[in-house]
Amino acid sequence: MYMKTLASSLALALSLNTGAASAQTEAATASVTENVQLQQIRNATVKITYADTTFLIDPVLSRKGTYPGFEKTYRSTLRNPLVDLPMSAQDVIAGADAVIVTHTHLDHWDDAAQKLLPKDIPLFTQNQADATMTRDQGFTNVRVLSDKAKFGGVTLSKTGGQHGTDEMFASPDVAKSLGPAMGVVFEAPGHKTLYLVGDTIWRDEVDQALDQYDPQIVVINAGYATMSGYEGAIIMGKEDVLRASKAAPGATIVATHMDAINHMFQSRKELREYVQEKRIQDRVEIPEDGATVKF
Ligand SMILES: [Zn+2]
Repeated sequence: MYMKTLASSLALALSLNTGAASAQTEAATASVTENVQLQQIRNATVKITYADTTFLIDPVLSRKGTYPGFEKTYRSTLRNPLVDLPMSAQDVIAGADAVIVTHTHLDHWDDAAQKLLPKDIPLFTQNQADATMTRDQGFTNVRVLSDKAKFGGVTLSKTGGQHGTDEMFASPDVAKSLGPAMGVVFEAPGHKTLYLVGDTIWRDEVDQALDQYDPQIVVINAGYATMSGYEGAIIMGKEDVLRASKAAPGATIVATHMDAINHMFQSRKELREYVQEKRIQDRVEIPEDGATVKF
């Protein structure tokens, strides 16, 4: 992404005659590219820097193999996380102005994050139940993103979805263990709108959010996590990445939530092959852990 922007800015600069004009062009391009960036940490843990504010999303900071695999899911004998963090936990936390916990499943909010994060860091949750839980864990600056909130010049809007299929949610036990999860839209004047879709399958709520916010960046949890005995998945997969590329034709799609938790059925490698095959590779970023994408 950054390389492409750099290349186009060089091309622009070369097409201009005076040094002053090319310097201006480069400066203007630089300020645009630095406005929004996303750093993939591991699984759904990402750092989004938006309008000079850094949001740490779904922090999971435990070492590789800390937890047993999720019961009744794909590859449940593997321990989570499957891989270590690409940097120290302290470096993950460094610079975060706020935390957003889309839901409190262990692969989005773990003991190490609860222990290591400053207790007074502003922390957004999806509902009162999760707010109560995080306050009980010692956090003192907890907010519920019930609809919209402002933080550091950024407007955050909650979006909906369903963390599994209708068949799964027809079982009270499964519905309870899956529970609700949220997505978040980031907006600020002069910035590309970013839609973090969250843990959901493709639903009407996703189409509505794409219609309503017209995002230029769509971040998809694309590991296609599956449960034993059920068709379908509890989050999106590669076909949803393709669908998003069509539903939001002007947007860059960022795929995350792969290669770190036992029940991920699809890998980054598989997704890379798929986007090549579908010829949408220029539209889709699939960052490795630790990599940063600039928009
Ligand atoms: Zn998840």
